[in-house]
Amino acid sequence: MSIKAYAAMAAKDELTPFEYTPEALQDDEVEVRVSHCGVCHSDIHLIDDDWGVNLFPLVAGHEVVGEVSAIGVGVTNMAVGDRVGIGWICGSCNKCERCATGDSNFCTSAQGTIIGRHGGYADKVRAKERFVFHIPEGLASDTTAPLMCAGTTVYTPLKSYDVKPWMRVGVIGIGGLGHLALQFYRAWGCEVIAFSTSEDKREEALSLGAHDFICTKDEAQLLKYQGNIDFILSTPYASFDVNPYFTMLGPRGKFCIVGAMGNVEVNTMNLLTGNKSLCGSENGNDETVREMLQFAERHQIGAKIQKMAFDQINEAIDIVRNDQAKYRIVLTNE
Ligand code: NAP
Ligand code: ZN
Ligand code: ZN
Repeated sequence: MSIKAYAAMAAKDELTPFEYTPEALQDDEVEVRVSHCGVCHSDIHLIDDDWGVNLFPLVAGHEVVGEVSAIGVGVTNMAVGDRVGIGWICGSCNKCERCATGDSNFCTSAQGTIIGRHGGYADKVRAKERFVFHIPEGLASDTTAPLMCAGTTVYTPLKSYDVKPWMRVGVIGIGGLGHLALQFYRAWGCEVIAFSTSEDKREEALSLGAHDFICTKDEAQLLKYQGNIDFILSTPYASFDVNPYFTMLGPRGKFCIVGAMGNVEVNTMNLLTGNKSLCGSENGNDETVREMLQFAERHQIGAKIQKMAFDQINEAIDIVRNDQAKYRIVLTNE
């Protein structure tokens, strides 16, 4: 049996049809027939080799929803035909202390779905049972696919950085991650301020859950929240001056980076004054993915998507690369 995929053969190359024969299905593995796969900016970073990791031939795609097509002999909680999702991580050792204590994503053997193996821009993809998640009945497959990476990434800091429902939070960058953060943080109970370079996203940001919208190109607007935001999530993939945001944070405020924006320069006075922190957050553990999906079902959270067929994959990638997606492209094999 072979898997039909789209691969980049070298950095920045167009993706081309690529067929490979997977190894025998392992006892704890699940194979999923992909019905939907989101295009995350991390896919673009890897296709363009922005991080210098050179993973070619690369089959990207790590925001998968589909149906279980085969299970290993040791799989107990999945059956062929189940509707499931797979995100950024597809395996871990399942034995170490981190795996046992809610840090499966930090297991030293944690395996990325598209790091050194082939991902979801394909008709099938595989993961260990622990990292294959049933999609709740009340969620649609297409709008849920982006939750598998982007949703987990924005939901995780709510817990790990102890964001309380009464807090005022900021979300910088209203793209794939940011537009989901607006929805999750609003539903969490927070007052949510959207920060965007794109004035034309104002109305949609407000309708997605933002209480206020600040166009960051207008310096006067940037002065509106001085010293009274508790937590800021930064999603852009490109570098920008983060220092003005520290003057918006109140005492013990946190500036949490999830976007892979490269080097950040922070004036230390901005950290000392008011005991503020600069922190980061990487995707999430398997328990958090399950919880995030339940939370999304209860609050009817889903990505705002543009659906495209898998054979339009190069067009889709260019749209994301050029920052034109509103707000997530989802490829479909439907
Ligand atoms: P995206 O859909 O392309 O959105 C990024 C948004 O950033 C854009 O829509 C834009 O929003 C803003 N932006 C772009 N250029 C900017 C600039 N020069 N200055 C300020 N803002 C700018 O990307 P995404 O899929 O959300 O991913 C965002 C980043 O998160 C990527 O680097 C990705 O690799 C990373 N990521 C990290 C994790 C993790 O585990 N930490 C998980 C997934 C993705 P506005 O138009 O509103 O300004
Ligand atoms: Zn991603
Ligand atoms: Zn482990």
